Order: sequence, then structure tokens, then C-alpha cells
Amino acid sequence: GENQVATLTDAWDFAVELRADPATAEARGAVLAKPGFGQAFTDHMVVANWTSELGWHGAKVTGYAPLKVSPAAAVLHYAQEIFEGLKAYRHEDGSVWAFRPEVNAGRFKRSAERLALPVVPEEAFLGALRALVTVDEVWVPAAGTGETSLYLRPYMIATEAALSVRPAREVLFGVIASPAGAYFDTGPKPVSIWLSSTSIRATPGGTGAAKCGGNYAASLAALAEAVANGCDQVAYLDAVERRWIEESGSMNLFFVYSDGRIATPELSGSILEGVTRDSVLQMAADLGHEVEEKRISADDWRDGVRSGEITEVFASGTAAVITPIGRLAWDGGEVVIGDHSVDHGVGPVTATLRKSLLDLQHGRSPDPHNWLTRL
Ligand code: PMP
Repeated sequence: GENQVATLTDAWDFAVELRADPATAEARGAVLAKPGFGQAFTDHMVVANWTSELGWHGAKVTGYAPLKVSPAAAVLHYAQEIFEGLKAYRHEDGSVWAFRPEVNAGRFKRSAERLALPVVPEEAFLGALRALVTVDEVWVPAAGTGETSLYLRPYMIATEAALSVRPAREVLFGVIASPAGAYFDTGPKPVSIWLSSTSIRATPGGTGAAKCGGNYAASLAALAEAVANGCDQVAYLDAVERRWIEESGSMNLFFVYSDGRIATPELSGSILEGVTRDSVLQMAADLGHEVEEKRISADDWRDGVRSGEITEVFASGTAAVITPIGRLAWDGGEVVIGDHSVDHGVGPVTATLRKSLLDLQHGRSPDPHNWLTRL
């Protein structure tokens, strides 16, 4: 019938079904007092459905609850899934802002195309964030508490119950939200990185540039290997020459040189293009650094640290913002990065960039590139 073909606007008009049993102010306060990361979720969530026949429909904000998914759903067998991660920040005047959400919308679109999933228009992606944050506004941590925010997790899964290997004809898009505390309780601490010689994260032509669950499933054994070797995270090498630094399991990598240059591995097609990575490149240039996107080998890293040419290394990502890296270890050796007797081993360039980015996101400094969007 004529009602089946909804316009874009109608399809993404979020109905709101408030839950009857939201968390008590006391329970919410307990979560907000010590949010952690990704463990407690707000009262509501966004869901929308897509079928190859109807397109997108049923977009709504509804009570946070387990999904009902067939055990034959394609996502459970073939990992047809993508996600995003970004944060909402409360400013001093009470307003709530997202950091470059249109960049996440664009990456979500590219991930969808790579995973043969339907596209969520940018407007709808932003509308979903706004709809959820509006309903669950009381879950956005207060300003002035440092680094706290509401982490937003958009995702899309293939829900069709069908075991044939083909793009699913039924899909669910959702957003959940989780209060996030400071990643480091007592200021940033350098992490250690394990250079994996055995595990490959992504290959040319593969899915490394997409934010799909399969990439993360494939990284867990290497992470376990890193932990078994006394390290916190993994750095991956390129799949072809096994020589060029790509990125860490959930963060992009940056190198600071003694002459003030800052470099990050160039986009190879198998690196995830981080929103923070792009922002750091811009901010570093704004601060007067020469910035480069280039190929950097594992030997460049080791030799540069040993010779003193590389003075700081850090990782960038939404969750941990900017994380100093204090040690690189591999099967057979290690190098220690930076002076760990000063500022807990956090280098001055890393510290400045970290503070600049946090101040901008939390509304404590100007926003010259209009990176903030009011939710
Ligand atoms: N690389 C990978 C593999 C990641 O999962 C992430 C986190 N999204 C990043 C880099 C950093 O991206 P962003 O700055 O957009 O969070």
C-alpha cells in the first residue's frame, strides 16, 4: 500500500517509547560517580529496522533491553556487522555536544558499503544520536568533572534468519549509550605495546579500513599474546612486507621527533581512519608542528627511539583520547620511550596535544574548526 513507501524524513522520525522503570536517581548517581568504560548503559536505546522490501522503518527510542534475534541470524554466523564509537560532552552551561559526529557518520557509511549493509543517511545517524541523548540527557556526566562523557555506540547487524552466505535482507540499526569516566584515574600513564610478528590485523582488499566486529574478533588472540608478554596493547605490521607500522588494535599511532615533527602511518587501505587521528594532525599543525603521513617501519621506530630522534610515541582514539606509549617490546627485545623519571613518562608534546583536544571537546577552549555539534 501507499504507506509502505515512507519518505526519508518519515522513516527516520524517531517515535519515543519511554520505559516505565528507568533507573532510580540513586542507581544512576552510583554509575555516574564511577562510570568505568562500557559497562553500564542508559535507560533507553535507538532501534530501526531495514528490509530489502521496505527500506528503513520503525525508527524509535525505546527502553534499553536485550534484543530478540533468531539463532539463525546472519550476524551470529557470518559476522555481518559494523559499529561506531563517539562521545557526547556536557559543557559548563549544561549543553551537550558531539565531536565531529558527521565524520563518524561518513565512516559508518563506508563500513556499511564494505560489509554489504544498507546505508544510514548522515542526517538519520545524527538524528539517532540526538534522539537518544535528548531522552537520556540525565545520563550525560556533569561538566567540570574532568574527562567524563557519554560514550555513544551506533551499530548495525544482519538479523535475517538465513544460513545462505549472501547480504542479509533484514537488518537492525541501533544506538546504545554508556557513561564513560576518565580512562586513566590518576592522569595518563604510558602503556606498553607488543609488536606482533605473527598476527596480521588487516590485509590489502580486506576489511581493515571498516569498523566491523570481525576485525576485533581477529585481534583478540594477538592481544592475549601481548598480555602474556607483559604488554597492554598490540601494534600491527602491514600484511605484505611485514615491515610497516599500521596501527594498534583500537588506536592510531603517532611519533614525535626531536625537531618537533609529528608523523603517523599513512592510510594504507588497511588502517582504520580515526577521527582522533585526523583531529590530532590538524591540531598539531595549528600548534606549529610539521605533520607528516608517511610509511614508518618497525626498524624506524626502534632505531629512532635508540638514537633519540624519536622522543615521544602516542596512540589516538575516541575512548582514551591520546595515550602515551612508554615501551615497545617484541620477541627478543624492547625499547623504553621517553624519560620515565619526569611527569610519569608522559612527554610534553603528548601532554599538550591531549590537553588541547580535551579542552576543545569539553568546551573549555575555542573550536576553530567547528568540530562540535550540539545534540
Ligand atoms: N584504529 C582502530 C582499529 C580503532 O578501533 C579505533 C577506534 N575507533 C581507532 C583506530 C581510533 O579511531 P577514532 O579516533 O575514530 O576513535
